[in-house]
Amino acid sequence: MTITGQGISMRAVVTGGAGFIGSHLCTRLLRDGNSVLCIDNFLTGQEANITPLRANAQFSFLNHDVSEPISVEGPVDLIFHLASAASPIHYQKYPIQTLKVGSLGTHHALGLAKSKKSAFFLASTSEVYGDPLVNPQPESYWGNVNPVGPRGVYDEAKRFAEAMTMAYHRVHGVNTHIARIFNTFGPRMQEEDGRVVPAFITQALTNKPLTVFGDGSQTRSFCYVDDLVEGILRLVKSDAHDPVNLGVPSEMTVLQIAQKIIQLTGSKSVIEYRTLPVDDPKVRRPDITRARQLLGWEPTHPLDDSLRATIAYFKSRLSR
Ligand code: NAD
Ligand code: UDP
Repeated sequence: MTITGQGISMRAVVTGGAGFIGSHLCTRLLRDGNSVLCIDNFLTGQEANITPLRANAQFSFLNHDVSEPISVEGPVDLIFHLASAASPIHYQKYPIQTLKVGSLGTHHALGLAKSKKSAFFLASTSEVYGDPLVNPQPESYWGNVNPVGPRGVYDEAKRFAEAMTMAYHRVHGVNTHIARIFNTFGPRMQEEDGRVVPAFITQALTNKPLTVFGDGSQTRSFCYVDDLVEGILRLVKSDAHDPVNLGVPSEMTVLQIAQKIIQLTGSKSVIEYRTLPVDDPKVRRPDITRARQLLGWEPTHPLDDSLRATIAYFKSRLSR
């Protein structure tokens, strides 16, 4: 079995494969010569993300809610479990679905991995660190999460998903991998999902004010989706079972990313300050020592080039 396109192909299942990251992962797996079964219920995904893949005979699609039991015919080598609302707007709009997919959905995906004797990958998140009191965040940090706040539905679902994944590894010996993904962006995000990069790009391209929450001094790091997919593929080939942070190890403020997007789009937009959402993390930056050491991975795509590619995508969508 290989996931590198070196001749022997594998059959992968990708839950959430019609979403932003999932569709890039499906594309890369197919390009590398593997076959892919994408499972999605389009809660936050888009048919357009997978339309180009449907022509590939190695691609198949199942419209299914993975919070219900999952049934797949035939052998499966690797399950990538990405299904979950991911943007703060989406997971607060679908709080119960988010809790269910992180708990029941993860349980079902792990059950499938156990029965098929396949490897398993969980798309976890930097949100498991909550509003961190340690910066940058190493994987050894246990986090500062408000379980009953508006973000708790996502944070706690992912924390449960990590615990369930480790239990299946320890009890059933499933070959599991967990990535804690930090803010990732690129083409195929949805302008209306409200995440900062698509929101600012759409606002800038339509010369509307960029809505900076709070005073814009909160920090994030921004990883291009191609770098993330490379990290995920290296992780599933590794022996790493404990969580591994994947993200860009340098941070910038939200105000800085707003200014950069105005500059790169040549927009006439101004900045408009809005109330900071409850529990919005004040800092976020990954310590990627573990990814460097275990996977030989670090992001390579320069921020400006990645933003330009993403701006071009949104330009083409807006001109339709
Ligand atoms: P996305 O919303 O674009 O994709 C999620 C996909 O999951 C969508 O296609 C959605 O329809 C599908 N889905 C949701 N619930 C489902 C269910 N019950 N059954 C089947 N499909 C379901 O989001 P994304 O940014 O591509 O995120 C993908 C994964 O990566 C998520 O698990 C998310 O938590 C994780 N992640 C993303 C980021 C990021 O910055 N993009 C950061 C950390 C973690
Ligand atoms: N943000 C903002 N304006 C927006 C959208 C987001 O200032 O229109 C801020 C948000 O408050 C947060 C950061 O940008 O501090 C990143 O938000 P996003 O929703 O992308 O993801 P998060 O990192 O909060 O999960």
